[in-house]
Amino acid sequence: MEEEMLATGAAGPREEEEEGHTAPTSVSAPMEDSEGCEGLWELPVELSERRPECSRCGRPQKVCLCPFLPVHPLKVSTCLYIIQHPAEESRVLRTVPLLAACLPEDKCKVLIGRRFSEDRYPELATVCKNSNTLILYPGAGATNLEEININSSDPCVIIIIDGTWSQAKDIFFKNSLFRIPKQVELKTSLSSQYVIRTQPTNTCLSTLECAAVALAIMEKNESIKETVLRPLQALCSFQLQHGAQVHHSKEHLLKNGLYDKPMPKNKRKLRRMELLVNNVKI
Ligand SMILES: [Zn+2]
Repeated sequence: MEEEMLATGAAGPREEEEEGHTAPTSVSAPMEDSEGCEGLWELPVELSERRPECSRCGRPQKVCLCPFLPVHPLKVSTCLYIIQHPAEESRVLRTVPLLAACLPEDKCKVLIGRRFSEDRYPELATVCKNSNTLILYPGAGATNLEEININSSDPCVIIIIDGTWSQAKDIFFKNSLFRIPKQVELKTSLSSQYVIRTQPTNTCLSTLECAAVALAIMEKNESIKETVLRPLQALCSFQLQHGAQVHHSKEHLLKNGLYDKPMPKNKRKLRRMELLVNNVKI
């Protein structure tokens, strides 16, 4: 759009010249001219300053990832509910808009907030109480998603919490609604490709990666995973080409003696790091 405007601007003076030639006797020519200018002044000033965003992928237009998105939204029966911590929405590198762009609108719902009460979110409450709804949250009470018997007659809903580990934990434990659905986890060998952001462990996946793996399992279709991951891979390689550094997981850094931050004094944190190095799932 910015380029389009520039193009019109460049063509402007030539038009004026032509106008001058065709209407030398008319006094209305300067008026027409000023009217033309008025139109330009009315354009909002921010337009040239704000980076225009692509309406589909949410990325700045110059780095639009739409060529890496499926031409048509994927046909899936599973519906995703992404519960997004407010801090996640303002991050520059967000993966949820990319995920949403791969799926039909009614199959990927994003709710932003920290607290989700039954009164304020009656639709979500109904979803949580449905026996076909699962929540992706690893832990002692979680079943491997691959072992879940999916009742194919009714479409399933998977709730995914989008945020850092502590934000996700906070959302899970402080909202009783999220403890109603069956708790599931992914036992995947997929290593996070989202190398731009440091993940606590190599197997800690971004929301988009979790959704890709979960959808492939639910829909019994491996190609879904590749399709959903493609824009993320493009995003990462683009960022790396433009100077972003590979962020290895803390686990990788510790194991390879590359962790250069001071070790925590807090005993609990130190213990967590020991567990990370020794491959204990935390
Ligand atoms: Zn785009």
